[in-house]
Amino acid sequence: MARPLPDVVRCEWPADAPDPPPATLAALDRAAVVLRRGGLVALPTETVYGLAADALDEFAVDGIFRAKGRPAANPLIVHVADGAMARTLAASWPAAADTLTRTLWPGPLTVVVPRGDAVPEIVTAGGPTVALRCPAHRLARLLIARSGIPLAAPSANRSERVSPTTALHVLEALGPRIDLILDGGPCAEGIESTVVDCTVTPPRILRPGPVSRQRLEDVLGAPVLDPAAAADAAATGVARSPGAQARHYAPRTRLDLRADAAAHVAVLLGQGRRVGWLTTRGGEPAVRALAASSRDLVIVPMPDDPRAFAAALYAALHALDQRNLDRIVADDPPVTEAWQAIRDRLTRAAT
Ligand code: AMP
Ligand code: MG
Repeated sequence: MARPLPDVVRCEWPADAPDPPPATLAALDRAAVVLRRGGLVALPTETVYGLAADALDEFAVDGIFRAKGRPAANPLIVHVADGAMARTLAASWPAAADTLTRTLWPGPLTVVVPRGDAVPEIVTAGGPTVALRCPAHRLARLLIARSGIPLAAPSANRSERVSPTTALHVLEALGPRIDLILDGGPCAEGIESTVVDCTVTPPRILRPGPVSRQRLEDVLGAPVLDPAAAADAAATGVARSPGAQARHYAPRTRLDLRADAAAHVAVLLGQGRRVGWLTTRGGEPAVRALAASSRDLVIVPMPDDPRAFAAALYAALHALDQRNLDRIVADDPPVTEAWQAIRDRLTRAAT
């Protein structure tokens, strides 16, 4: 028999209220019951929606891999309520992790540290390290604190696909494969956390994200290697992040990342293709003229501020993917640190 769709429970929490309303507390307690039974709960974080299970229950964590179709070699990030919970999951607590998390937690920063015995190997893909994050989203943190359960929670999408930034994205992608969805509205950051390996000196970024390298170096008062330098290190034999596959975050529709996006769009339209164009140049006369000249072109105007761009990116990709276009075209983002995480996601989506 077909499994039912999960309930989607709206969790209100007014910005100026220190505590959530009773209905939201009831939803969190319901989620905690599902988690304690080994079930799967999708929940909002400030980065993207996560698909959570009890990180200390290997059968529950196996359910995450099955629901996502995720390769077993790709380890999961464990979400904690605070630094004290994080330490219970680590075999040791490197000085860099301590300094970074004291300043940047709660927030979109994941630290990789030596794995503690409590953490099942399935979480770390058999590896000797574990990735830990304390989310800034109040609902996620309160769920972890009230349940007392550290949550293994990758993005709540099918493996390799675009991450969800709304509860509806989760419902569309995973539907009956999961038990419950907590709807906390759209995610504020919109792209996945910065992942920093703190088991090496200097620490190195495994995945760029909302926390920039500059910010990490300012907090540490010491150098941090960027992902390109980490890739160089990999070429010389040092292991890379197991989950840093080239293809990831991809829409079903083929995506072309182009410096000459306007000309490329014109060529595709000339070939009779239906094209979606993600662009920060939507207001330019040449772009408007192109849009006016063709019914086969969908223009998605994007903000030219990188933080706002990140927050809007996945929703734009989800929306374009629904339109059964022949191609999605995106402008090559500026080669600056502020755009690095967006460049990373678009490059993987285009592979
Ligand atoms: P996501 O699927 O968005 O949750 O991505 C998790 C990211 O964290 C992937 O890039 C993983 O490779 C990375 N990650 C998780 N655990 C580890 C670990 N122990 N060592 C290195 N990277 C990790
Ligand atoms: Mg993911």
